[in-house]
Amino acid sequence: MAVFSQAHRAESLAARIALTIIQNGNASTASKTSAARQQGLPVLQASLLIRLRNSNGDECTVGALSEAMQLTPPTISDSLKALVRKGCLTRKKSSEDGRVVHFRCSPKGKRLAELLAGWANPIEESISGLEKDQQISLMGTLTHLLRDQVAGGYSPSEAMCASCEYFEPISWDKHRYHCNRRDIPLTPVSINTDCSGHHPYYNGRE
Ligand code: SF4
Repeated sequence: MAVFSQAHRAESLAARIALTIIQNGNASTASKTSAARQQGLPVLQASLLIRLRNSNGDECTVGALSEAMQLTPPTISDSLKALVRKGCLTRKKSSEDGRVVHFRCSPKGKRLAELLAGWANPIEESISGLEKDQQISLMGTLTHLLRDQVAGGYSPSEAMCASCEYFEPISWDKHRYHCNRRDIPLTPVSINTDCSGHHPYYNGRE
């Protein structure tokens, strides 16, 4: 309850920061939901469409999408079927395994995905208005916070350094990190958010 207690927040800067981060997350979710509603889609279908639009082809099956989005296969399957019925996706059986179906955006689905993806633009524009030093510091701080969330069990749906086994923080304060897979130093500017070498960080969990 501490973060949600006004008395505690009056005393604790950390609690006020935590609440501000929570409110930023809520605002993002509200923007995404609103964009999906404007196009007549539930938010999960909108997320799937954006994901499939940006996929390089390796995340186009029920299994891969349910793993990436941490949702059950039946939940993903139902939404994919609904998108097929709406003419936003096409489906094709795998040539290697007839039990596996690959989903792709149709031309209608691609157009819709472009419109939907715009929900995040105001966030980027707001950050673009910050000085470069502020952006670097923000990236370092948010990476630190996200790494702590990952260590606690959260798995981001993107292949980011913060959730990678090979990511080694050298100094959080000085924003110095190392990629143990590629053996290269990393900074907030070079931190990867879409890495082909990413391997999930389990922090001792099964
Ligand atoms: S392998 Fe990629 S995601 Fe992992 S630490 Fe290196 S650069 Fe980051």
